[in-house]
Amino acid sequence: MTLPVGARIGIIGGGQLGRMLAGAAARLGFDTSVYCPERDCPAARVAADNVVADYNDLPALLSWAQTCDVVTYEFENVPVGAVNHLTASGCLVRPGARSLEVAQDRLQEKTFLSDCGVQTAGFRPVNNLTDLASALEELGGSGILKTRRDGYDGKGQRRVSAGDDLEGAFADLNAQPCVLEEIIPFTCEVSTLVARSITGETLCYDVPRNEHVDGVLHRSIVPSGADAGIEEAAREAAVRVADALGHVGVLALEFFVLEDGQLLANELAPRVHNSGHWTPEACVTGQFEQHILAVSGWPLGPVTRLFDAEMGNLLGADALTPFEVSPQGSIVTLYGKQEAKAGRKMGHWVRTGF
Ligand code: ATP
Ligand code: MG
Repeated sequence: MTLPVGARIGIIGGGQLGRMLAGAAARLGFDTSVYCPERDCPAARVAADNVVADYNDLPALLSWAQTCDVVTYEFENVPVGAVNHLTASGCLVRPGARSLEVAQDRLQEKTFLSDCGVQTAGFRPVNNLTDLASALEELGGSGILKTRRDGYDGKGQRRVSAGDDLEGAFADLNAQPCVLEEIIPFTCEVSTLVARSITGETLCYDVPRNEHVDGVLHRSIVPSGADAGIEEAAREAAVRVADALGHVGVLALEFFVLEDGQLLANELAPRVHNSGHWTPEACVTGQFEQHILAVSGWPLGPVTRLFDAEMGNLLGADALTPFEVSPQGSIVTLYGKQEAKAGRKMGHWVRTGF
């Protein structure tokens, strides 16, 4: 269904992505309503209205969703059962529950990616210490232990090697179900941002190169400098994934690039993504606007890139003096988070056309 001009879009989740989605929606004449358990979240303060309730409070979620013409989400840990409940009750949710389900569990995600013919790092499921010991041996004595669920910005991960205190490492992750992943000696990381419409049309943005520091995205740079063939393969893989999910909206797929040019998918995000934060400044249609267009059932906008671009995150106290710490001539976006905790994503800068 295509939404009429001025329709109301519900956003589940109240962080910076929701805030930027709400801003883009407003620009297109839509009203947004944000559903989030925290009061005064960044997205709620730019939306037409908001509801403060738990994601698992199904009656509250449903009565809110029924006031919206379409519901979308800005983070992947929305309970799948809650989204299924909305859909079963006749609400339109885009992207659908399948995109969430796959993205919120690293084991399902990797299995799904391989089923799509997209290669990932070698991995083993780890449910207990015995699994961990044998997985470590099978992967050659070292690996990255990641919780299957709820990891972000490098949280919920531990590098482990044979001889380490495995019990301690597993306990650090609350002995949750995990996967042990091979450590990939990548030459660089890139990501694809693909938008898919209700008619199945797909458009990919130019591929950025992403630099991480301590597991957190630090910079995204476009053009990436990778070979055209590598970029093409990254785009092609992301389209295959979006099609297989029947995804509607923007989806990001992160990759490791190996020395010989091989791509290994790291993870997928069924939403707008930090590595696409340069798109509003550098492209005809930014990723937030694009996601809103897609979930509204409107045609996708052109993704033509007008400028070379670089994006940097502002973490913690850096966001208190954003113009001092950003390169000269940057365009700064701040997320309106009340506490500048160390390492927290507080804003970003984009530099174009250098
Ligand atoms: P986010 O969702 O914020 O991207 P996350 O917590 O889900 O982060 P990952 O994407 O799994 O974390 O990892 C964060 C970064 O850590 C990667 O971008 C990469 O730089 C490094 N990393 C993760 N897994 C591996 C691996 N198997 N080999 C080498 N480096 C890795
Ligand atoms: Mg990641």
